[in-house]
Amino acid sequence: MPFEILRAEARSILTPVTGFLREAGFTHSLTPARNCTFGCSYCYVPTMRVQGGLKPTDWTHWGHHTTFKANAAALAARAFRPGQRIYCSPLTDPYQPAEATERLMPGILEALASTPVPPEVFVIQTRGTGVLGDLELLRKAAARTTLRVSFSVTTDREDVRRIFEPHCAPIEARWRTIEALRRAGIEVFATLAPILPCDPLALLRRALAATEGPVIADPFHVRETKRSGATTREAAAAICRRHGWEEWLDPAFHRELLAEMTASAANAGRLFCHGPGGFGRLALSRELSSGTGSL
Ligand code: SF4
Repeated sequence: MPFEILRAEARSILTPVTGFLREAGFTHSLTPARNCTFGCSYCYVPTMRVQGGLKPTDWTHWGHHTTFKANAAALAARAFRPGQRIYCSPLTDPYQPAEATERLMPGILEALASTPVPPEVFVIQTRGTGVLGDLELLRKAAARTTLRVSFSVTTDREDVRRIFEPHCAPIEARWRTIEALRRAGIEVFATLAPILPCDPLALLRRALAATEGPVIADPFHVRETKRSGATTREAAAAICRRHGWEEWLDPAFHRELLAEMTASAANAGRLFCHGPGGFGRLALSRELSSGTGSL
């Protein structure tokens, strides 16, 4: 999909978090751009509208353009403080397709690696294989702070992936990215979110094989279980209805799915977690995460 890249100077780069991320244990989010050129059909961000810092053209043309915060690295260098647990990002993918040419993340990682006052935890949430282009910088930053990559894989079915997220990398390329990050010594989590139609136990087995830590997951966010705030975009619900996948929107089905995956992971001696508690695994300080407690 062709997309347009815009640039603007931002006034600030770190935002104190509320809701889901605060419950998970994060203190701030860092969002390098507005709108995301992956343009996933299920993305909850456009449903947040102005609460997500968006302009009307963002939620009416989700994925068609993105506005980079051109001064993000300079702002980040001034904003980092000890004790911060930062999630990058709840509102865009830091390795969205437009990042391949704009290259904002290297400056942010350089700031992270060189700040005299590194944050406690810095989490990169992405489904972009372009993260591998910054491997050396990730290593440098990981030497200064607890840096984690939470890498999203949503299904084990390539046909399903192409329908819901046609602008994201194929599934195997994503597993290879996770494995390459792990080999490079970067702490990486497989995040199965949102869980799209799939063979859930096959997806889980692949995640367990590719990673060492807990596997994090979340089904679609639907209004029945999420009384307020962002929910899965209507475009994904329409796809489910069109293909006979309505059960993947059903809270009762979600409960069974998560219970089955939790039990299967436990049989393998591993932790499978979801919701704020699951994402909270990403926010833990290094000392706590090396413990054996469970959520
Ligand atoms: S990559 Fe994330 S932020 Fe970007 S469109 Fe997809 S779900 Fe939304």
